[in-house]
Amino acid sequence: MSSNDRDDFTPSDKKTMAERVSWKCSFPGCGRNTVGPNSDDPTKKINNGIAAHIHAAASGGPRYNSKMTSDERRHITNGVWMCRYHGNLIDADYTEYSARTLYDWKEQAEKRAADSLKLPTQEYSSKHATLIQLGSGIVYFANWNAVHSREWSFELIAPLIGDAESLNQYVLESRSLPEAEIYVVVESQGDARKILDIKIEVSPEGKYLLFINVDKKPVATNPHDLGMSMEIDDEGDIFIRNGSLAMVKGIDNAEQMISICMGTIKGEMDDEKELGSLATQYYNEYKYDLEIFGRLILLELIRLSLIPMERRSKKGKTPSLHFVKRFLSIQISSAELTHSRFKAHVELEWGNGELWDGEIPIFVLQT
Ligand SMILES: [Zn+2]
Repeated sequence: MSSNDRDDFTPSDKKTMAERVSWKCSFPGCGRNTVGPNSDDPTKKINNGIAAHIHAAASGGPRYNSKMTSDERRHITNGVWMCRYHGNLIDADYTEYSARTLYDWKEQAEKRAADSLKLPTQEYSSKHATLIQLGSGIVYFANWNAVHSREWSFELIAPLIGDAESLNQYVLESRSLPEAEIYVVVESQGDARKILDIKIEVSPEGKYLLFINVDKKPVATNPHDLGMSMEIDDEGDIFIRNGSLAMVKGIDNAEQMISICMGTIKGEMDDEKELGSLATQYYNEYKYDLEIFGRLILLELIRLSLIPMERRSKKGKTPSLHFVKRFLSIQISSAELTHSRFKAHVELEWGNGELWDGEIPIFVLQT
C-alpha cells in the first residue's frame, strides 16, 4: 500500500495532540514523558511519542472503520498520544484495546494534563505522593487508597524506576519470581512486607490501582541484645586500640551494623546474594537530586529493617536490621564522599522503643 492511501495526521496536529497531554503517554499508569533534549546536539530535541490512530489510517489496520471519511480518519480527534511501547501495544492487540477504550484514555489523559495546569508546579503530584517499591527494580510514585489490616491498595501515579511494562510483568510473574524479590516497601508508612498476593486494576476513571495482600510484620528486637562486634574505623578497616581489637556493643554496634549493611553492595557477596543495599546504584544515578536520593536510601533502610532474608550463619530468616522498629526520616545534605562514604542523618526508633538520631556513614562505589 502506498503512503498516499493512509489518512495520516498532519505534523501540526500531531504536535497539538502531544501538547494536549503534556507530551505524556496516554496509557493509564504509564505517563512516560516523550520529549526531551537530544544529547548529541544542543539545538535539537528528541520525540519518543507516537500519534496513534484510534481507527486505523488505512483499511486492514487496527480498529479500521470503513464508514469514516478520509477527513474523519486524519482528524486530530481520531488520534491518541502514546509512548513508543504503548503505541505498538495497542495496535498489536487491538481486540483488547477497543476504539471505545482509547477514546476514554484520550479523554482521561487530557483531563490529567488540564488538572496539572492548575497545580503550582508540574512536580506537584510526585512531591506529594509517597514512593512504593516492588522488588529491587520497580519504584513508583503512588497514593495510598486504603488499608484493611493486611490488604493495602495504592493509586499509581508515575514510575520513578521501571515502567508500566516492568510493573505488569512483575505482577503477572510474581508467583514465579525468586522469593527474595516478592516484597513491597512504603516510604510514608516506614513499612515493608513480604507480598502474599498482588494484582492491578484500571478503575472506570482510568486510575491505575494496585492491590496487595501482605504478610505480618516481624517483631523488632532490642539493640542492647546484639552483643559485641569488632569496631570498624572510618576507612572500613578493623580498629586497633592499645594493641588489641577494639569492640563495639549495644547502640554503637547497631549503628555500625546499619552502616555496614547499607554499604555492602547488594549481590556482590557470592554466598549471600540477598545481603546489602542498592545505595551504590542509587548514588551513581541520583546524587544530583538529593531529595530523591534520600527518599530511595530511606526505602532501602526500611526494607532492610523489615524484610526477612536467608542468612547463611543464622537459622530461620530475619531482617538484616531486625533491631530497628521504624525508620522515621532521613536527610542527606551533601553528595560529597569522605573515604568513599556519604553521610545520612537518620531518625529512628530502636526495637526497644528508644528514639535515636544521628549520622550514618554509607559506603558507595563511585562509577
Ligand atoms: Zn506508555
